Amino acid sequence: MKNKNGLVVVISGPSGVGKGSVSSLLRKELPDIEECITCTTRKPREGEKDGKDYFFLTREEFEARRKNGFFLESALVHGNLYGTPRDEVESLIKKGKLVLLEIDVQGGINVKRSGVNALGVFLMPPEPALEYLEKRLEKRGTETPGEIRTRTKNALGEIARKNEYDAVVTNDDLRRCTEEVKEIIMSRLRELNGE
Ligand code: 5GP
Repeated sequence: MKNKNGLVVVISGPSGVGKGSVSSLLRKELPDIEECITCTTRKPREGEKDGKDYFFLTREEFEARRKNGFFLESALVHGNLYGTPRDEVESLIKKGKLVLLEIDVQGGINVKRSGVNALGVFLMPPEPALEYLEKRLEKRGTETPGEIRTRTKNALGEIARKNEYDAVVTNDDLRRCTEEVKEIIMSRLRELNGE
């Protein structure tokens, strides 16, 4: 279904909830959806590529861009800066793409406030939430134990804001969760297209 209304789908949720897995399955199922690559000052993880996973910037580069209004939103997340390039979002919208933004809660709320036509979907871990996230992050093995503690501690603050999103979906099963998110997107697109 074509995106004639510049809809931007924002997917947020605590670290370890499976945002990346849901997004990549969504990209397979919805051919017109395209993820916007964002910027970060975080160091690349093993296997991550500049321009594919993120645009990796130094803090100075990030601050200079922020000053110039380069970002649609930017936020300090788990001690690093992250930001959504305004140009990237606009150029995807111009191409008629359904834009997918996988960003944190502060960013998600700010995108909604920016006047962009945004649909916010918050992914919730199954209960017991914090234990689940901790196990997932340990299994992923991309963060140090200290970083895992920071991320699980921050999860509570993110979950507390879930009701500021248009929809909350529990990622108890990747396929089921992705189907539900897909249905929420399709239903918003039908509504916007007046169907
Ligand atoms: P990670 O370091 O695990 O890749 O990402 C950490 C958090 O930053 C995740 O919640 C991710 O969704 C979020 N994030 C990624 N890009 C952006 C961005 O451009 N803006 C904001 N606000 N958050 C982002």
